Amino acid sequence: MKTSEKTAITALGEFRLIDRLSKIIELKQPSTVKGIGDDAAVIRYKNAETVVSAELFLEGIHFDLTYTPLKHLGYKLVTAGVSDIYAMNATPRQILLSIGLSKRFAVEDIEELYAGVKIACEHYGLDLAGGDTTTSLTGLALHITAIGEAAEGKMTYRSGGKKTDLLCLTGDLGAAYMGLQLLEREKRIFAGNPQKQPQLEGYDYILRRHLKPEARKDIIDMLAQCPIVPTSMIDVSDGLASDVLHLCKQSECGVRIYLERLPIASETFRFADEIHIDAVTAALHGGDDYELLFTAPVTMHDTIQKELPNIDIIGHLCDASEGAYLLTPDNQAIELTAQGWKGI
Ligand SMILES: [Mg+2]
Repeated sequence: MKTSEKTAITALGEFRLIDRLSKIIELKQPSTVKGIGDDAAVIRYKNAETVVSAELFLEGIHFDLTYTPLKHLGYKLVTAGVSDIYAMNATPRQILLSIGLSKRFAVEDIEELYAGVKIACEHYGLDLAGGDTTTSLTGLALHITAIGEAAEGKMTYRSGGKKTDLLCLTGDLGAAYMGLQLLEREKRIFAGNPQKQPQLEGYDYILRRHLKPEARKDIIDMLAQCPIVPTSMIDVSDGLASDVLHLCKQSECGVRIYLERLPIASETFRFADEIHIDAVTAALHGGDDYELLFTAPVTMHDTIQKELPNIDIIGHLCDASEGAYLLTPDNQAIELTAQGWKGI
């Protein structure tokens, strides 16, 4: 759609914009007593603890609109919000979404963002129950509050890990970081020569992992079915190294991770080779994976392998005095250090 055909937000004003956006969303959760339309949302959970988490996404810091479709961004924002709720072994039920937008965005752009939010709400079983919309001087600012419930005795903190517990990981690591590197590379090439078309073929997986990541609702459902209540859990959003250190600190434990057990997708290896980055470094420090890292008693080893075949046991906790190390197949011990996004 050409910019000239789009509706300026000033043509609608804040209240009519909110009216128009709220029509996109329907309420489905029984626990949402009141959604958009009053001063506050009203939520009622019976016999459950309430879990609340917040996530802030700023243009130029967390996302780049040159290559991020607004619909994908809406979906990713919700994924980031609910991933923290799943990491508590809880179920998200409502989100509040706040948007700060500059004049360069039109009503249709925000509707596109909302379309992604709506798909995510349907996928994760959420109600968009409120939020705020305001003007920003430059760029797009997005904030999500995710609210959920945990059944009694199911809440899982970072602090419950015991030495000798198994360290388990869902999915694979480093792919989202590689997807970002690919998009950044093509952006640089395009800036140098706008006639050149971006070369993205053959890298669907790493692109999807960056642009439209999934939070592991499926794993929380599987854990409940087994049933397995992890002793501790965290979502891997800043990179495995940083996140396992958070878990170790809270659990007052050390850790051993076996390098050859780190799950890394073949496409991640392929692109890492192409741009001469070590795939293991991307797996340890890449971030944006939204996988779950949890601990379970060593007695659960066979149950985990049988009931949760798509989970990798990548190591174990140990005494805090033994520190946090990655062990290579040739028996070298590399100390794990937190680097986060900007470390590579
Ligand atoms: Mg988290």
